[in-house]
Amino acid sequence: MKFNTKTIHGGQKHDPSTGAVMPPIYQTSTFAQKSPGQHQGYEYSRGENPTRSALENALASIEGGVAGFAFGSGLAAIDGVLKLFAPGDEIIAMDDLYGGSYRLFTRVYQKYGLVFHFVDMTNVDAVLEKMNDKTKMIWIETPTNPLMKVVDIEAVATKTKAINPEVFVAVDNTFASPYLQRPIELGADIVMHSATKYLGGHSDLVAGAIVVNSQQLAKDVHFNLFATGGILGPQDSYLVLRGIKTLAVRMDRHCANGIKVAEFLDAHPKVDQVYYPGLPSHPQHEIAKKQMKDFGGMVTFTLKSAKKEDAFTILENLHVFTLAESLGGVESLANHPATMTHASIPADKRAEIGITDDLIRLSVGIEDIEDLIEDLKQTLDRV
Ligand SMILES: *Cc1c(COP(=O)(O)O)cnc(C)c1O
Repeated sequence: MKFNTKTIHGGQKHDPSTGAVMPPIYQTSTFAQKSPGQHQGYEYSRGENPTRSALENALASIEGGVAGFAFGSGLAAIDGVLKLFAPGDEIIAMDDLYGGSYRLFTRVYQKYGLVFHFVDMTNVDAVLEKMNDKTKMIWIETPTNPLMKVVDIEAVATKTKAINPEVFVAVDNTFASPYLQRPIELGADIVMHSATKYLGGHSDLVAGAIVVNSQQLAKDVHFNLFATGGILGPQDSYLVLRGIKTLAVRMDRHCANGIKVAEFLDAHPKVDQVYYPGLPSHPQHEIAKKQMKDFGGMVTFTLKSAKKEDAFTILENLHVFTLAESLGGVESLANHPATMTHASIPADKRAEIGITDDLIRLSVGIEDIEDLIEDLKQTLDRV
């Protein structure tokens, strides 16, 4: 099956008891057994639930992996991966990361003895320099949140595995979605999603996903999910599955609107930098063209004035865009990373990686582009 067919049918079968085309929401904690240990594959919903299984099969199908797992949030999904490791193990991570991922690494897992090295992976040699015999995983995010840096997944996977074939290459694929980028096809072992974003697509749930490319990883990640319990409930599993079915058509519109917003901002006299991998001026534009089908709906920009007050004025006066955390829904959102999504990164660290106080991040939705541009125009006129 090709990708768009997989989003509708991948890993899915009609409900065996009724023929229901969509999987029923199995709102149950437990399953009756005929005799002790004699059941129909389901015992207790922390281990397996049929609605969650339907979503997990769809996730594996669209990412081209061996198995998928649905967690209660994106961070719970990352947590389910970090529990593969033991004190002293080392992880090399991208330096520009979703703030919550950075917080989980540095404020939770460092306490348990995992060692993290943060490097700018747009330079692959910087990753190789940090590798040693304790390195267990490379954690890539691409495009990054919020600076839209692009990491060459294939180059990182090939070069790190040439040094140590056992090292896991993991990709947070939230910003691209599997419609635009499929890391397993590029050599990754683990793909992670905040399914809250493009997979769910409607800003109506919080969910996370892991897809793996080996039976051993499938066994180990499932064990972590089952043993520590960060599962996604059946209602939200159903909603993510429903979201996946329209992923391709939604992404096409996000991309079409994304490039137009980026071009509008790029030409605007009040705007300084525009970070969008679809612009030829983006430093990794060629890599983005190679590994992504299109460039997505996330656009970040700074102001010529470089003033925080101006960024606030712009954000307070948007009418079609909503000032809110999160991204990837059908509606356009605007965000001030320094005070919102990335406030958990210390100010000096933010300054070091370029998350300045005049930085604005847009999640461009699927509304009519004329209304989005008009909204940006009127608010930029105020500063
Ligand atoms: C939102 C987000 C997460 C965290 O996911 P939650 O569902 O909010 O727990 C992780 N990575 C990226 C890139 C995100 O945007």
